[in-house]
Amino acid sequence: MFTALEAGLIGRAQSSGLIRVRTHSLREHGLGNHRQVDDTPYGGGSGMVMRPEPLAAAVDAVMAHHPKLLRILMSPQGELLDQEIVRQLAQNAPGLLLIAGRYEGIDERVSSIVDREISIGDYVMSGGELPAMVVIEAVARLLPGVVGNPDSLVEESFATARTLEYPHFTRPEEFRGMRVPEVLLSGDHRRIRKWREAEARKRTSQRRPHLLYDPDK
Ligand code: SAH
Repeated sequence: MFTALEAGLIGRAQSSGLIRVRTHSLREHGLGNHRQVDDTPYGGGSGMVMRPEPLAAAVDAVMAHHPKLLRILMSPQGELLDQEIVRQLAQNAPGLLLIAGRYEGIDERVSSIVDREISIGDYVMSGGELPAMVVIEAVARLLPGVVGNPDSLVEESFATARTLEYPHFTRPEEFRGMRVPEVLLSGDHRRIRKWREAEARKRTSQRRPHLLYDPDK
């Protein structure tokens, strides 16, 4: 699944050595002849639950070589990922160890061997691999040199203020009767900046009002 990270920006960052992504198969730490990693839930109910020992053994094996990694469990019940968390994770220079679950879920005791639990949103995926890739992609873009033009990180949504970014336009000047806002053609950089700031605020209040009014942030 992780071959998706070989394309585009992240692929280039990997081949130029700016980031390293390694995958580790839980099966290698599975139990018995069948390399079992899951079992039926205590108390009954549908689906299978991931056993804690193979996961713990896999985490131990990785941490033996990279003891400073931040251990993150991908879980729909974790903290909701946002750009602030992405920034925090990007600062953990030794890197991240992301644990992807499968099946009905993971034995609750695995929580005790991780540093953080993170959710990519209030919906349920079948496995933690795509959520882990979401974290990798969002974090990698903030590492030095990964995004070619660092200015694009400064202006983007959530970057400085907690706002969405202003709307973008490129050629043609008119598309299906819709014209590019006149101010963007004016060459007046001060006016353009003011317009973009106002648009960013307007969009945020229309689409993500909680970002502007969240009393906790
Ligand atoms: N039954 C569980 C969901 C299990 S989904 C529940 O209701 O909470 C199986 C695995 O997919 C999880 O262990 C987790 O690693 C991953 N996953 C699913 N949705 C996710 C989300 N929104 N964010 C992060 N990981 C998720």
